[in-house]
Amino acid sequence: MTTQLTWRVGDVTITRVEEVVTWLDGTTLMPAFTPDVLEPHRDWIYPNFFSERNDKMALSIHAFVVQSGDTTIVVDTCVGEGERSLPSDPEFPSRLDATIDGGLSAVDVVLCTHLHFDHVGWNLRDVGGRQVPTFPNARYLFSRTEVEHTRIEDHHAVIEPSVQPLIDAGLADLVADDHVINDEVRLISTPGHTPGHVSVAIESNGERAVITGDMTHTPLQFAEPDLSSANFDDDADAACATRHRMLAEWTDQPVLILGTHFAPPTAGHIVTDGERVIFSTLP
Ligand SMILES: [Zn+2]
Repeated sequence: MTTQLTWRVGDVTITRVEEVVTWLDGTTLMPAFTPDVLEPHRDWIYPNFFSERNDKMALSIHAFVVQSGDTTIVVDTCVGEGERSLPSDPEFPSRLDATIDGGLSAVDVVLCTHLHFDHVGWNLRDVGGRQVPTFPNARYLFSRTEVEHTRIEDHHAVIEPSVQPLIDAGLADLVADDHVINDEVRLISTPGHTPGHVSVAIESNGERAVITGDMTHTPLQFAEPDLSSANFDDDADAACATRHRMLAEWTDQPVLILGTHFAPPTAGHIVTDGERVIFSTLP
């Protein structure tokens, strides 16, 4: 069973569709992680984001379906088929299909926050030995910076087979890091994890939300922004600077934070609590 969650932000509806939730040693992503880091955060970090039993970190892999007026947007397409270093689920496309009004063919825009394999994997899928777009009527948006600067040696990135075929087929739009999709949805530049990494800002009827992408992998990194995902970051210093910059903008503000790798309840607010900053999840 997977957990499906839906939020409303003004007139926009956002639905989390899960591929898998897996548990990793904190050091897999964050080399400086030790269980001591969790001590000041015991009251909110367990049990959703870390396991109290073994201090393993939850890593959720899910897409967000954003319904904004007549426009249906899928943000990140998870792990997909083929050999990858994270688990995947072949049922994920049918789960998406069942969730979206009108199914996969009703998706107008597929937006990848960056080009790592767990964000572009289901862009295409195998049908009878051929790779076909999973979303047959969609434009696929990628940051131009990201496409131009992703290094061949960044082996977490998969230009082939999940990005280049779409560019070659004329189905992709390479956009600016502050690209505006419509009145309610736009990109914000959050580089560091990858060179052209973007997050997604949603604003409707005075309400605000943001989809983080991998500027953070766990809400612990809002409380401890210098705890870097250095094992996966292209530029760990830039990623830290991005976290500090966005924290300054979002802390104690009515901005709903939707974490791209945060396990359920996935959404919350960044708030000051005495000396600490914590991630306060929705009830
Ligand atoms: Zn990721």
